[in-house]
Amino acid sequence: MRNAIKGKPQEKVAEVVEKKAKKEKKAVVEINRDFCKGCGICVAFCPKKVLELDDHEKAVVRRLENCNACTLCELRCPDIAIEVGSEEREEGPKVSKVR
Ligand code: SF4
Ligand code: SF4
Repeated sequence: MRNAIKGKPQEKVAEVVEKKAKKEKKAVVEINRDFCKGCGICVAFCPKKVLELDDHEKAVVRRLENCNACTLCELRCPDIAIEVGSEEREEGPKVSKVR
């Protein structure tokens, strides 16, 4: 069965809409400065260059608009200092916000 929109099958349209929604989801990256020891792992792993170390050797979010909510920073941080949330996650981050 064909959908009228761009002549794509309905399943394909659903897939495209889902991908677009995922792409547009708003990410929230929260860093707990008390936990951060400034190792820079999150900075190195972030594929979008969202994170940097500040003058105090703590991770900070510099380009949140580039974040795709991949959660690599959260997964790689050895000190559980980063939490990535998005509008799609039911439970929001609970640590203090640093941007
Ligand atoms: S990986 Fe964790 S501890 Fe290391 S700089 Fe990033 S937030 Fe800080
Ligand atoms: S969620 Fe991914 S893109 Fe966003 S800051 Fe973390 S590593 Fe970078």
